[in-house]
Amino acid sequence: MKGYGGKILNVDLSSGNVTLEQVTEEMARDYIGGSGFAVKLLIERSVPNGDAFDPSNPLIMAPGLFNGFPVPTGGKVVFCTKSPLTGLMGDSVMGGSIGGELKHAGFDALVITGRAANPCYLLIKDDQVEIRDADDLWGLDVPSTATKIKNMEGNVRVACIGPAGENLVRFAGIDCEDRQAGRAGTGAVMGSKNLKAIVIRGTRDLVPHDPTAMMQLNLEMVGKMTESPDYEADTKYGTGEFLDWINSEKGTFPTRNWRESVFEERKEIDPYYWAPKYSKKNKACFSCSKPCGKLFIIESGKYAGLAIDGVEYETLYSLGGACGNGDIESVAKGNEICDAMGMDTISAGDVVAFAMDLYENGIISEEDTGGLELGFGNSEAELALLEMMAKREGLGDTLAEGVRLAAEKIGKGSEKYAVHVKGMEPPAYDVRGIKGMALAFMTSTRGACHLRTCAYALELTGKFWKFKDVDRFSYEGKGTEIKDMEDLVVVYDALGVCKFSRGYFFASGFIDLIKATTGSNYSEEDILQVGERINNLKQLFVLREGMTREDYVLPEKVTTMPIPKGESDGHMITIEGMNKMLGDYFDARGWDENATPTREKLEELGL
Ligand code: SF4
Repeated sequence: MKGYGGKILNVDLSSGNVTLEQVTEEMARDYIGGSGFAVKLLIERSVPNGDAFDPSNPLIMAPGLFNGFPVPTGGKVVFCTKSPLTGLMGDSVMGGSIGGELKHAGFDALVITGRAANPCYLLIKDDQVEIRDADDLWGLDVPSTATKIKNMEGNVRVACIGPAGENLVRFAGIDCEDRQAGRAGTGAVMGSKNLKAIVIRGTRDLVPHDPTAMMQLNLEMVGKMTESPDYEADTKYGTGEFLDWINSEKGTFPTRNWRESVFEERKEIDPYYWAPKYSKKNKACFSCSKPCGKLFIIESGKYAGLAIDGVEYETLYSLGGACGNGDIESVAKGNEICDAMGMDTISAGDVVAFAMDLYENGIISEEDTGGLELGFGNSEAELALLEMMAKREGLGDTLAEGVRLAAEKIGKGSEKYAVHVKGMEPPAYDVRGIKGMALAFMTSTRGACHLRTCAYALELTGKFWKFKDVDRFSYEGKGTEIKDMEDLVVVYDALGVCKFSRGYFFASGFIDLIKATTGSNYSEEDILQVGERINNLKQLFVLREGMTREDYVLPEKVTTMPIPKGESDGHMITIEGMNKMLGDYFDARGWDENATPTREKLEELGL
């Protein structure tokens, strides 16, 4: 099969058994790769209603179709499992080169089950697959782990966890070369398997169906990206380039645990301020010609010597605005702690912000915090709490469960300060002023998420893809909009393409490239139907795992507290509005009122 490695690698860490399967032409046609393969394998291989930390919960790594080829931004790989944070779909996408390495070893998916008796790492060198002892690596942070393994194994790619994953922090991620599969706790599942790292070297040729056409199409993609009007700002200032716009012109930058949506002290965390001072070099994911990453270096002062890849927009929110912290150096330090310990910066920052809110409202005190004065804006306390969470020390042990479970444990009315959807802490979009995003948070099978629709790009500008004149304050038309955006965007995760290329390529833009890669003919409708099929399969998984219509709710702050000032002043989501959008969405999807796909819909999709 042109464009594919051709096999699925199954590894059982309990028994040490390694088996291979062929990828069928039907599977390739219907699911393309990446998220499509991952979700199909997850639903087939997992035990219904099992615990996320049970050895039977599979951890699946699936490179997108374009991994291993020089397709611009085409190096995204999916890690997928049952999430320990939400109990639902735990899929998280990572940039970098390890997905391509797996394909060059001959595999389109890796399925890891079981639990090793002792810490181990998995070594894949083409056909050679070994489970190796990792006693010496357990306890090391992410950079030390990767360095030590590379010193031992030579020219390999290393995806590993830090202490947070080992300690089963429910929002621990997986890291490879400064790129993270951050969300949903995939790193904690890896830790539960006693698996410190996945180490890969692949040397086989990957042959596309039409190399000449692929080269030509890749050059055209590079041209479109580098000549686009936003290229300069995006590469100069990174993903936080629009921070001031979303804060000041839209009034939707969640601040102080969603008390407000305008952060007055934002000056330093705005990349237009910090990039000229701290950004020393652009950094890109493998095969990307739009380097939105920054090598951020602090040369003097309290944090002298800090050097990270960042600070990305979501982290400027979670460790900055959400915690009321406008000091960019301490935000960068928090970013460094999260990356080294292996924690998702979004959830970690949101959890700290939640604790700060509890502290300011007298629900927890210095007795609970171990003496930390946890008011908003106290950056020293914020950094200390991040370390405590990763190590599960003191209050950090409770907070390492995520805001939903932590609120249940703390009680005393703390639930009303817990901002999450389905157990997932939110990204940096105050959905009270972006109604379509509020629906997207609810419909995402992994909880509050911006990347399952990228609908913020549509709602905040009013136009995107086939949509125009969209009113972000209206409840009208959101059902179809979010359904269509979900079906488009999941295709990016199947192809392995970065969503920051979304402004240039929509479904029709991939027809020729898929053909050049695999030889298969897809129409635009075919591609979008693959997206719809994957999303319906995700829905079948979360329903099987116990999600019900009652889980489609927004945080209490979103439905009871209007935004108090700024350009979205007075806006919130009413219960009626919430239910209207959901009803429209279920209709657009062909699902019944309980969010269950109808028999006709499943037959139409071949499920
Ligand atoms: S646009 Fe940014 S996140 Fe996307 S592939 Fe390029 S460097 Fe990575």
